[in-house]
Amino acid sequence: MHVKILGSAAGGGFPQWNCACPNCRLVRSGKFPGKARSQAQVAVSEDGKSWFLLGASPDLRSQIEATPELQPRDGTNNSPLSGVVLASADLDHVLGLLLLRELQPLNVYATGSVTRLLREQNSMFAMLNRAPDQVRWRAMRVEESFQLCTLSGQHTGITCTSIPISNRYPVYASNSDPALSPDEALVGLILTSDSGRKMVYAPAVASITQSLREWLEKADLLLFDGTFYSDDELTTVRGSGELAREMGHIPVGGEDGSLRQLAGLRIPRKLYIHINNTNPMLNETSPEYRAVREAGWELAEDGWQATL
Ligand SMILES: [Zn+2]
Repeated sequence: MHVKILGSAAGGGFPQWNCACPNCRLVRSGKFPGKARSQAQVAVSEDGKSWFLLGASPDLRSQIEATPELQPRDGTNNSPLSGVVLASADLDHVLGLLLLRELQPLNVYATGSVTRLLREQNSMFAMLNRAPDQVRWRAMRVEESFQLCTLSGQHTGITCTSIPISNRYPVYASNSDPALSPDEALVGLILTSDSGRKMVYAPAVASITQSLREWLEKADLLLFDGTFYSDDELTTVRGSGELAREMGHIPVGGEDGSLRQLAGLRIPRKLYIHINNTNPMLNETSPEYRAVREAGWELAEDGWQATL
């Protein structure tokens, strides 16, 4: 299975347009000991020809242009993208779908509740179904495995399983809609190749459940929530804001952070992804960066790739 990280930052990217925190200021000046990053986006493929996106980021257009494998080879409506798997309806995870509205046939896999939110509460997404042969919405049931298929229905060699991670819907969602199931708000995605290699994609994790831990124990590659280093990072850096945990993100550091909680797991390769621009570990001279690297973690960066 080929895995490409097209974007590795949290929503807003790094630097973020309205932010002049020490990280954002330094990266704009060209003096930051670390890298700028676009908003989180991952692509996977078994054969290197048919690709699937995990989410669809607002930076998708430039991310595709930076990735020759994802560019059309000839003719029109001929993208190597076969589909998109949605883990949630968060704006940073679905806005890119609207950038894919140019009549390209695509499979979009999403839970019933996420599909309902996009298609029934947000009329703009109707642009994805302007023509009969455009987006095909595929129901994803939590904790059931399904095959990622080409548009002609052929198995591509990757099986996907989704597990419930959080019951939080995006702020824009109408909480009064009784059809929104708590289990379907935000899922972790487990991708298994026909050869048995496993990748776990969990860019937003409120707490490490037993079910998630069991999957992590089997992972060959983990892309995990690296949004904030500390619970009070936003208030410390910006002077205001919610706690990381209040926003549904377990912090990396601290007594009960993911570094500590996952220390016992022997995962061959583990990366923090979805890193917020305020996170001190982005600075490669910082003690936080050192702590992460010494614990065997890598920081995801745009353009990173691996074959499992
Ligand atoms: Zn910033």
